[in-house]
Amino acid sequence: MYYTITCPKCGKMNQNLDLVETDGWYECDACLKKQRVKEPLLRLILPKPAPQWRKAG
Ligand SMILES: [Zn+2]
Repeated sequence: MYYTITCPKCGKMNQNLDLVETDGWYECDACLKKQRVKEPLLRLILPKPAPQWRKAG
């Protein structure tokens, strides 16, 4: 599962980060700063679960 994070240092938007694999760590594309996304933020950017449709009948 991939996430998009805006770097708090330089404001660069880093896309397609696999934060689950790295336990929240990522390296910014622009300033190359390694940072860990805080857990509350990680929850905020979790995609909403897809609605489940019941089969008729
Ligand atoms: Zn940065």
